[in-house]
Amino acid sequence: MTSPHVLIVGAGPTGLTAAVELARRGIMPVVIEKRKSVSNLSRAVGILPRSMDLLDPSGVAKSIRSEAVVFQWAIFHNRAKPMAFIQLNTLKDRNKRIFGLAQDRTEAHLRNAFIGLGGKINYGAELLSLSQNDTGISVSILGKAFRFDTVIGADGSTSTVREALHIPFNGYELPEVWSIADVDVRGWKNPRAFQSFILDHGGVVVVVPLEKSRFRVIANRPHALASLPVPMNVTRVRRAAEFKISVRQAETYQSGRVFLAGDAAHCHSPVGGRGMNLGIADAADLAERIVNGTTEGYHAARYPVGKKTIKLSEHARHIITSTHPAIRFFLRSFLHTTEHSPMLQRRFVKNALDL
Ligand SMILES: Cc1cc2nc3c(=O)[nH]c(=O)nc-3n(C[C@H](O)[C@H](O)[C@H](O)COP(=O)(O)OP(=O)(O)OC[C@H]3O[C@@H](n4cnc5c(N)ncnc54)[C@H](O)[C@@H]3O)c2cc1C
Repeated sequence: MTSPHVLIVGAGPTGLTAAVELARRGIMPVVIEKRKSVSNLSRAVGILPRSMDLLDPSGVAKSIRSEAVVFQWAIFHNRAKPMAFIQLNTLKDRNKRIFGLAQDRTEAHLRNAFIGLGGKINYGAELLSLSQNDTGISVSILGKAFRFDTVIGADGSTSTVREALHIPFNGYELPEVWSIADVDVRGWKNPRAFQSFILDHGGVVVVVPLEKSRFRVIANRPHALASLPVPMNVTRVRRAAEFKISVRQAETYQSGRVFLAGDAAHCHSPVGGRGMNLGIADAADLAERIVNGTTEGYHAARYPVGKKTIKLSEHARHIITSTHPAIRFFLRSFLHTTEHSPMLQRRFVKNALDL
């Protein structure tokens, strides 16, 4: 049997994972990326154990481990006042941690692995259209026509592949504006902790370590840094941005020999830090199926996982951003009790690590 001719649209974490996983198993895909060069956006910051396990065979997990910050604690504050300290790195397995690393660096490790396997990323190459029949898939890239046996749409939440297939992306947009700041900081207390500050009126600000003195501040309101209820000695703002969030899932992840993975198939709020990790898992699963010839089961396997992840992320978002006094009281009591209960701490760690 000859190897399928595979096109991957998009060189974000999902497309790059699919590329590495196919290449290391002997199928060299064509990868196109509409950006002119690599991205330097640090969107996703938490790499979860399941992703590390999936990225172990290619050696990518090892190179991520050499650079990433291991989250030691989750610390919850009621406004500025510390309320609960929960230890995160209690398990023996070296992958059973949350690794903090800016998304552009995670992509760099994936990219290096793919190039090391002989792969090439075609930058400045945008997919413009796609159609398929019984004999294959026709695509137009920068106005030129090409044929492929299989296409992976890893082209993000505004996916051209999904639109070309007329697959509905059902869901809703959250009304509030969210904000992030990527900052260098001097003298931050507990630099290895993931810290949440629960504010009044449903507000929440989170500080995540990215490097020794580099942090991500994210808030569910404008001006992330100004929302932080404690002083932070910021020496450099690398990037500050505001954004809206959609919660959506594609009605199907596959149509014929064309597949959707990552944000092209699902998107939700950053609460829980699952988005990129879910895309990595989609990509690894799909690559394995392409190699084994079992792609017909891809939607059935991955759609329910996406649905459950969106549900859990939305559930957590509703709780931490609720303005309802009873839910605020429940949240504070729960965190306080968890700090003093080994059983609840174990459960918290299991959920946070998505084990
Ligand atoms: C502020 C913020 C914080 C986040 N934090 C976390 C977190 O802590 N943990 C987590 O797991 N997730 C997090 N996420 C989500 C995470 O960033 C995404 O889930 C992840 O980037 C999805 O990867 P992807 O490869 O599927 O899509 P993308 O990263 O969007 O990559 C898609 C790529 O396809 C390219 N492309 C698009 N159209 C075409 C075309 N027609 N032709 C060629 N190329 C094309 C794009 O240029 C892009 O490079 C966060 C997101 C945001 C915005």
